[in-house]
Amino acid sequence: MKLSDSVEALRGVGGRRAALYRKLGISSIYDLLTFYPRDYLDLSNPVPIREAELGEPCAIRARVYRKQGEQRIRKGLSLFRVYVTDEETNLTITIFNSQFQFDSLEEGEEYYFYGKITGTLLRREMNSPLIIPAEEQALIRPVYSLTEGLSNKLVQGNVKEALEVWGDRLSDPIPFDLRQREKLCQLRYAIENIHFPENKEALRLARERLIFEELLVLQLGMFLLRRKNRRETGIRLQDTDLSAFLELLPFELTVGQSAAIADSLADMARPVPMNRLVQGDVGSGKTMVAAALCYACHQNGYQAAVMAPTQILADQHFATFSRRLEPLGVKCGLLTGSQTAKQRKALLEEVREGRISVVIGTHALVQEDVAFASLGLVVTDEQHRFGVAQRAALASKGQDPHLLVMSATPIPRTLALMIYGDLDVSVIRELPKGRKPIQTKAIPSEKRPRALGFLKKQLEEGRQAYIVCPLIEEGENELVSASAYLEQLQRTPLAEYPMAVLHGRLKPKEKDRLMSAFQSGEIRILIATTVVEVGVDVPNANVMLIENAERFGLSQLHQLRGRVGRGSWQSYCILISDHEGEENRKRLEVMTETSDGFRIAEEDLKLRGPGDFFGFRQHGLPALKVANLVEDLAVLRRAQQIAEELLAGDEGLSQPEHRGLRVMVRRLFARNEQTALN
Ligand code: ADP
Ligand code: MG
Repeated sequence: MKLSDSVEALRGVGGRRAALYRKLGISSIYDLLTFYPRDYLDLSNPVPIREAELGEPCAIRARVYRKQGEQRIRKGLSLFRVYVTDEETNLTITIFNSQFQFDSLEEGEEYYFYGKITGTLLRREMNSPLIIPAEEQALIRPVYSLTEGLSNKLVQGNVKEALEVWGDRLSDPIPFDLRQREKLCQLRYAIENIHFPENKEALRLARERLIFEELLVLQLGMFLLRRKNRRETGIRLQDTDLSAFLELLPFELTVGQSAAIADSLADMARPVPMNRLVQGDVGSGKTMVAAALCYACHQNGYQAAVMAPTQILADQHFATFSRRLEPLGVKCGLLTGSQTAKQRKALLEEVREGRISVVIGTHALVQEDVAFASLGLVVTDEQHRFGVAQRAALASKGQDPHLLVMSATPIPRTLALMIYGDLDVSVIRELPKGRKPIQTKAIPSEKRPRALGFLKKQLEEGRQAYIVCPLIEEGENELVSASAYLEQLQRTPLAEYPMAVLHGRLKPKEKDRLMSAFQSGEIRILIATTVVEVGVDVPNANVMLIENAERFGLSQLHQLRGRVGRGSWQSYCILISDHEGEENRKRLEVMTETSDGFRIAEEDLKLRGPGDFFGFRQHGLPALKVANLVEDLAVLRRAQQIAEELLAGDEGLSQPEHRGLRVMVRRLFARNEQTALN
């Protein structure tokens, strides 16, 4: 009997139920035991019936004073009435279709009833409540996140059995001493009480312990991933002169760009690897910062690697970097998944021998066969798209290289600390000179013809436009609906302009071709799914029209809008939506009011709540089960300290008493990352 046994070992769980459990990410008994309730029904504080708020769920405690037999309403629907009182106010309980539940209630006995009270002040009612005898001890009931076909009752039953039969197998990963010192309860007690709390205090203790454990394991994992970067590095850039690079630039760097470059150069002159985040709104010119630093690397005899989240972005960066750096004698290379084996081989050889100084690529960069002669700097663009492990894998291709991450998504300081450790941040606050604020309008679809007319005027003046449609279907159908949209557009006056559809189903080569045709102005209207979301830079495009704007999150809309407003022309963003929901209205309002990325991130946080915004996956972090980074900040700090102490005494968590923690760390990261810890 092991915790890794399949849930099928439970009574009543066969292949079909096991499949339902798998939908919830549960395959083993251990998974089930660590599938914590999403919420609880608390019967431990019943309210007087008179004080219960109408329409809100509540618990009451009352005595049955009269029962009325079955009333058949129609075929298949009968109801039973039970009259109860808390000796002050009466309440009518209605039970549907359950003779059994009705029979189990006895006149004169007391029960807890949990449900919504409706009716009038004179005649209060409660329909199909949860009913529990008053002598029952377990008054806090778990509520699980469910999937169709699995009821709460069923999950409760399965968890109960798992606890009874397998409970002894739960061994505590937190060493005894540490548990004592931090006053944490035992694992077994915690798991029992997170599912079936004896009382509120027990639930509090259970949560406290599990939150601590989760954050400790997370911190240990982060420290272990970063361990390499914390050492000294021999890579010190001390002979840097950017004047040739700056002279070739067609513009002056902004104050923010210059400061970010200066900060980074100072970091890289020191014997500790740089770990810096450059944060700047869309269009603030982060790419130039990276290019300058790659040049500095080359000057000092090192190579640099630049990782972008999409092929399109990698291509674009390659073009930009080549234009800026090749005239200075810096050879650039592009490594993506779409190259032929032969191309790849030749390129890899040049990289290995150090003939290529700057390698730009997608995640193809982290593959095993990629080796560098002397990797000095690793840059990741739009960092939140990558997993922590991917970043670490790229860094491990050098001897403690310097790290730079670039992002347009503002990250709260605490979260940044979590992800990157002792991270330094350079913020680019201003946009390059001469940019005009983008005008944004939200309109219903009936005004689409006018919007298209407006778009046509812009095209007549020589500009280009993006139209983004969030296609619901993926795969084959994505193609169908994208082409359908194109056809529709060709029946409008816009037909005279060259247009093309860019979507996920296209071959990388074809995407390339379309993007460069748009870049060169040959294609005037680019109809795209969200592949243009990050980073794409075509300054001549000045209209961004977004169909079904309600399908996008606020930050995503802001990213999309950031594709225009990159040249000196007035730019426009048109959001089309017929959706009437409150949240959508609010989102569109924020978009039309502000173009400040920091404010938008804040509003996004408000609208979506921290759970979603801090979306761990977005940052390449494993999802948390009980802890909440906003609410449990104090615990997080404590866990950080302890993780550091533990690792100071036992670098690889290899001592026997740390074995449990090591297993947990692996498990946590294995859930989301292919390249788990080594
Ligand atoms: P992001 O920060 O969103 O990655 P990019 O690096 O793509 O922004 O830059 C946006 C555009 O601004 C590019 O066309 C780039 O050439 C241009 N740009 C960058 N820096 C400056 C500057 N200092 N002055 C004028 N234009 C600039
Ligand atoms: Mg960018």
